[in-house]
Amino acid sequence: MPEHTSIRIPTELLPADGRFGSGPTKVRAETLASLADAGQTYMGTSHRRPTVRAMVGRVREGLTDLFGLPEGYEVVLGNGGATGFWDAATFGLIERRSQHLCFGEFSSKFARAVNGAPHLDAPELIEASPGTHPMPVPSDRIDLYGLTHNETSTGVTMPIKRVAGEGLTVVDATSAAGGTPVDPEELDVYYFSPQKAFGGDGGLFVALCSPRAIERIERIAASDRWIPPFLSLESAVSNSRKDQTYNTPALATIFMLADTVEWINSRGGLAWSAARCAENAAILYDWAESHPMAYPFVTDPSIRSRVNATIDFEQPVSGDYLAATLRANGVVDTESYRKLGRNQLRIGLWPTIPPTDVEALTACLDYVIEATSS
Ligand SMILES: *Cc1c(COP(=O)(O)O)cnc(C)c1O
Repeated sequence: MPEHTSIRIPTELLPADGRFGSGPTKVRAETLASLADAGQTYMGTSHRRPTVRAMVGRVREGLTDLFGLPEGYEVVLGNGGATGFWDAATFGLIERRSQHLCFGEFSSKFARAVNGAPHLDAPELIEASPGTHPMPVPSDRIDLYGLTHNETSTGVTMPIKRVAGEGLTVVDATSAAGGTPVDPEELDVYYFSPQKAFGGDGGLFVALCSPRAIERIERIAASDRWIPPFLSLESAVSNSRKDQTYNTPALATIFMLADTVEWINSRGGLAWSAARCAENAAILYDWAESHPMAYPFVTDPSIRSRVNATIDFEQPVSGDYLAATLRANGVVDTESYRKLGRNQLRIGLWPTIPPTDVEALTACLDYVIEATSS
């Protein structure tokens, strides 16, 4: 095979923007420009004062609209991203025993965070092989069900339905939120970081909480359980009600999240962004299905991710070679998830990415495969 750097993809085939990563994802040029515009009056000002608190308020209002949150649901923010939320939930949301659906790297990580917590019983793990997902099994002994709406490592989406009984349905929506339809009545917590479908930056967690979840958080906080102050969900709730976070947040992260949420809302909300992701996904999966050397990794079309797709290749076409060649041409972050160990590309299809750029990406793939096989 030729050196990947020696293949020059013709400029007219290249997408307008070459960012196709699965997180951090493409940040819109308009978002960065408005951050630069607002910079002098916003960046470097107190997070306890109206300028920044108003931005947090815009995030909370914008997300309430975007998800059509029912009465009593609250938008809770805190530092630490989704990973920080796992530790916070270990202390402040699980009463005794949780059940985790494990079907890839991220869904397994929450279970690992819970495992060994001295104040909890060992979590129940329900596993399924990569490319599929398990279903929750209702039980009287479980008080929290950990679901993952989109398993970013494998490109699998699972349906979100409230699990019957007293347990809370708690959903890691880090890559799904903002690009995948969801009914908040079907869950108690929908948590995510802003650097995936919301094209923002990392460091923050957002948790949409039902009244049952708020009640649980407050009840555990009032008990005699020791909770590290930084990981207290109760303080995340009380600070969020004041449009603040417990400690200093990254101000640019909040700005970019507010900007993207308002942009999605102005274009038609979640219905619009989910439709755009579905269109992007259709372009890429159709391409793979009709290509003799490519196929979608997830065999069941109904659970294929609409926000980040995994595409397998037949030898001698090499996913690593394709990703490296694309990278040398300015089309970045299409590499597969390492630990999955497949001959694969993983491609972001986020609301910030126009369908014309996904079309262009497939033309680039055609070009490189053709150039290496002749
Ligand atoms: C990216 C991701 C995470 C981790 O997010 P951080 O902001 O790095 O903590 C967790 N869960 C899923 C599903 C993800 O895609």
